[in-house]
This record gives sequence, C-alpha cells and structure tokens, in this order.
Amino acid sequence: MLEEYQTGQEASCLITSSGMSAIRTVVDEFLHPDCPDKPKPRNFVATSQVYGGTFQLFSVRKDKESKVQWRKVINSADIIEWESLIDENTCFLYGEMPSNPSLGFFDLEKVSALAHKHGIPMIVDATVATPALMRPLAHGADIVIHSVTKSLHCSGFGVAGAIIARKNIPAKVCNDELKADFCTYLKLLPGRDYGPNLSP
Ligand SMILES: *Cc1c(COP(=O)(O)O)cnc(C)c1O
Repeated sequence: MLEEYQTGQEASCLITSSGMSAIRTVVDEFLHPDCPDKPKPRNFVATSQVYGGTFQLFSVRKDKESKVQWRKVINSADIIEWESLIDENTCFLYGEMPSNPSLGFFDLEKVSALAHKHGIPMIVDATVATPALMRPLAHGADIVIHSVTKSLHCSGFGVAGAIIARKNIPAKVCNDELKADFCTYLKLLPGRDYGPNLSP
C-alpha cells in the first residue's frame, strides 16, 4: 500500500526472510537460461554502488560462479553509460537508490524508460529511502526491493525483506504469469519451491 497509493499503478507484494533473500528471489527469475541445453550468454546492468551483500551476490555468485556478467554502471548519473552497457542478452536493469553507504543517485525516470525500450524490467533497491521518502513505482520502476531489516525496522529489531512489483512488467522470459503479476507468481511457485519466506 505504501508503495502503490496514488501512483496510478496496480501492484502486489511478497515479504521474504531478509533483504538479500528478496534480491536473490527477484533477480534469479530473470536469469533462467531460456534454453537450458544451449544457454545464451547473459548479463545484467546495475549500479556499481550497492550494499556489500548485493556486491558479493552480483560479483561472486553471479559474475564469477554462474557466468552471468555484471555490467557495472560507474557514473550512475550518466544515461549514456547505462545505454552503452545494454545489449540483446541483458536481462534487467538494477539500481540501488540512494545507495548504502555512499548515497548514489540516478535519474529513475530516464533509466526506467531505457529498460522499457529494451523490453526488460527496472529493479530498484530503495531500502535507504523507505516509501516515506521515495516511491519508485511512481517514477517508472517495475520492481521495488526493501531490506525491511534496516530503516523500516529500526535497523535490526527484526530481519525481513519486501518485494513490490507493478502488474504487467516487461521481461525477456517466456512466462506470462510471471509478467502479469510478479509477486503472486513468486508466492505461488518459486517462493514455495525455494522457501525464502518470512517466519510467522
Ligand atoms: C542491508 C541491506 C540489504 C540486505 O538486507 P538484509 O535484510 O540484511 O539481508 C539490501 N540492500 C540494502 C540497500 C541494504 O542496506
């Protein structure tokens, strides 16, 4: 509700066991090889200024261990740099804003428009801002991620994550249910199969 109201968007939400489980649950859905027998090279374009756990997930678990290339945006204010890193094997755009800890910013409307031009989703980790200060769905983002552990939970009284996605997101995956209602799809299938769910 906090992310959706007065955006003109319809959205759904999934709560997870941590911020990192939210990030992994989201990005993995867009990185499945289309054709497992002959996997195509895959990459994603993301701000280089990200939280340490995200940095390790992207650089070690994805780039190094899974051969999914992380194309780092060094100057996130430069839309030309974002565009130069995208090709037909780019699975999503990802930005942390403001970044933790260096408070990096980018033009969300312009970067989201770029994602949509290429038929891929714009994912924003908005943990530091919280919906009190920034609501990415109102500025073109498709998926918002929060580490609820941080500002939303007074930094560590509890550990949780949140995924909020608008309906009908663009993606280069052949899965109509995923695109129509991403969070409901996550809840029904990957959430059950992989089990990143929040403890009651
Ligand atoms: C802490 C943090 C995360 C990871 O959250 P956990 O709940 O600790 O797993 C992700 N993104 C940002 C921006 C963070 O500050």
